[in-house]
Amino acid sequence: MLIVPEALIASLVSPEDAFRAVEACFAAMARGEAYNFPVVREALGEGRQYGFKSGLDRAAGQLGVKAGGYFPGNAAKGLINHQSSVFLFDPDTGRPVAMVGGNLLTALRTAAASAIAIDRLARPEAQVLGIVGAGHQAGFQLRAAARVRRFERVIAWNLHPEMLPKLGAVAAELGLPFEPVDLVRMREAEVIVTITSSPAASLLVRHVSPGTHLSCMGTDTKGKQEVEPTLVAGASVFTDEVAQSITIGEAQHAVAAGVLDASAIVPLGDVLIGKHPGRQSEGEITLFDGTGVGLQDLAVAAVAVQRATERGLGIDVGV
Ligand code: NAD
Repeated sequence: MLIVPEALIASLVSPEDAFRAVEACFAAMARGEAYNFPVVREALGEGRQYGFKSGLDRAAGQLGVKAGGYFPGNAAKGLINHQSSVFLFDPDTGRPVAMVGGNLLTALRTAAASAIAIDRLARPEAQVLGIVGAGHQAGFQLRAAARVRRFERVIAWNLHPEMLPKLGAVAAELGLPFEPVDLVRMREAEVIVTITSSPAASLLVRHVSPGTHLSCMGTDTKGKQEVEPTLVAGASVFTDEVAQSITIGEAQHAVAAGVLDASAIVPLGDVLIGKHPGRQSEGEITLFDGTGVGLQDLAVAAVAVQRATERGLGIDVGV
């Protein structure tokens, strides 16, 4: 078994690698070659959450689990709040193949999913990117979005405005003008990424213009919410996995309120394999409910293991 520690991941897996790996995994899901197992998520007390996301991709030969969660006391210890590790197993024998640091991989695979949705669903000429949120994931989201559209500027809102300069620094690195704005000015954006841990909707119908694409990435647990249910109900809704979207994703609220039928939600993989056309009109609002699936974690972890093996990196513990 190979151990690929967190410190090696940045040198092994690029945003481009993550984009390709997640695209392949969503397509495999749509073809019925890969599926996710039910998510386990438990509250540990004092705001700590712990859980498991797992699955099997028969086409790619990947079986495994990501174990991890959210530990709000970490920031004070100089650690990021989300901590995770991915374990890969041989799908034929069940023997352990690798243990891989999952923190950077989570950010890369989450940003990749959002960017794949932008790439496939946003209007090609989109010039203004809006970001709601400015935490650890937001910079990754900005970088990934900028890879798939030629944005001219970035506008951003965060409940805690003191966090916005860090996101502004990422925009500056990319050569993009950056402006903190009120939510109502999100109407200027053609693409909006939401990436907060909010328990109630921030982005409302009146904050979004017709024709916008939304990648809603923050809601990955029951009880979180970033977007007004009427906005979700009025959009063409796409997701990584419908079962997760209606239980732990952004669509949980619109479905529970009876304003959105689960059968109207389209797996993004269907667009990738040509089974669904994606955006069908200029004025349509498209919304990607990115809940984060275990197969995404396995896909990027497998890239890390392959690269580490090729380069003789990692620690082989010989099991
Ligand atoms: P973080 O703790 O670094 O940042 C949290 C963000 O949420 C900040 O912008 C903060 O200002 C904002 N926020 C906190 N409370 C809020 C409230 N009440 N209303 C509005 N905004 C509020 O977290 P992060 O690592 O950047 O992750 C952001 C979210 O994305 C989390 O909910 C996390 O669980 C989720 N996430 C989803 C996936 C996925 O695959 N979909 C993957 C990783 C993280």
